[in-house]
Amino acid sequence: MPTIETDEHKALRSAVAALGKRHGRAYDREALWSEAAKLGYLGVNLPEAYGGGGGGISELSIVLEELGAAGCPLLMLVVSPAICGTVIARFGTDAQKQHWLPALADGTRLMAFGITEPDAGSNSHRITTTARKDGDDWILTGRKVFISGVDLADATLVVGRTEDARTGRLKPCLFIVPRDAPGFTRRPIDMELAAAEKQFELTLDDVRLPADALVGDEDAGLLQLFAGLNPERIMTAAFAIGMGRHALAKAVEYARDRQVWNTPIGAHQAIAHPLAQAHIDLELARLMMQKAAALYDAGDDTGAGEAANMAKYAAGEACVKAVDQAVHTLGGNGLTREFGLASLITASRVARIAPVSREMILNYVSHQTLGLPKSY
Ligand SMILES: Cc1cc2nc3c(=O)[nH]c(=O)nc-3n(C[C@H](O)[C@H](O)[C@H](O)COP(=O)(O)OP(=O)(O)OC[C@H]3O[C@@H](n4cnc5c(N)ncnc54)[C@H](O)[C@@H]3O)c2cc1C
Repeated sequence: MPTIETDEHKALRSAVAALGKRHGRAYDREALWSEAAKLGYLGVNLPEAYGGGGGGISELSIVLEELGAAGCPLLMLVVSPAICGTVIARFGTDAQKQHWLPALADGTRLMAFGITEPDAGSNSHRITTTARKDGDDWILTGRKVFISGVDLADATLVVGRTEDARTGRLKPCLFIVPRDAPGFTRRPIDMELAAAEKQFELTLDDVRLPADALVGDEDAGLLQLFAGLNPERIMTAAFAIGMGRHALAKAVEYARDRQVWNTPIGAHQAIAHPLAQAHIDLELARLMMQKAAALYDAGDDTGAGEAANMAKYAAGEACVKAVDQAVHTLGGNGLTREFGLASLITASRVARIAPVSREMILNYVSHQTLGLPKSY
């Protein structure tokens, strides 16, 4: 039976936990990002040849989970090194790798990722952002919504489509769109989320890009896209598990001390058992996340697909329940700013909705794993 976590993983976990503890819930995103960069944590998954740590999503998910557990999650880890870094490392040209990977690894550059569109939503087959050729250039037109961190990012990896010259069918393709590209505009969406990163609506109005803005092969876009989506799901699981652990730890601490009858409230099973269940659910979700990360890092994209979906589902649900129970454990204090848990009620829903909703994962398992027919 292989060990779930190696000694190196344990050492990484405790070192990142110490960094998270120094920054805590009142963290400054930029200061934490640059310290994590200096310590080599942002690029742990990227190839050593390009300045990364030579590890995988197993290591990067440990970084995000531990920062989240300390109350200071770096959401852009899901996007910049995990999706964009992975896709460029696996499919980018040598020039793209040279230009982006060392900078993503040392945190001097950041990349956002845009697939969601207003009229497609969960049905990504319906995306209409279109790339057409003009000489050697590409011209991109379309709209995206809910794209995180575009203001922080030097470029956005945009999922568009090109037309197959032979069949006329649209096929997905990935383009690197620089922040200041003419015709590329962003509008912040007014989210009710207390988070350091904002979401944006993007408009691409005839954005002209050079030929080398296309990542990888025009004919293998779907494969390349999936190579980035599995790490995104695994990292979202890490984000959710970290947040759930953070809320649970606060609730446990409170339940140990708070006394309104003769014993601390944590001695009442009505308080203790749901907290114990929350802990079990988070641990189980982490086990599935570790399985997904191990499969992905071993190069098994297909096996990782199912496990990454299940891990994201389990972690999202465990996070929502842990936060809900934590808030309840604190009674009135659960809703005060001082204890900082109420805002997590909204934040914890993110992992249930994004990057793929709970229902779409249940659909995936129904169809792909159980072989049940489709309703849509
Ligand atoms: C905080 C945040 C950050 C985000 N960051 C990014 C980002 O950086 N980049 C990016 O590209 N996107 C991002 N997203 C978008 C996210 O991936 C989408 O919100 C998500 O994929 C759901 O799409 P939708 O919001 O259009 O919901 P819809 O697709 O409209 O779904 C609405 C509801 O209908 C249900 N539903 C839809 N179809 C079915 C079906 N067939 N069966 C059963 N139920 C169904 C869904 O489960 C959901 O509950 C972010 C979203 C949030 C909230």
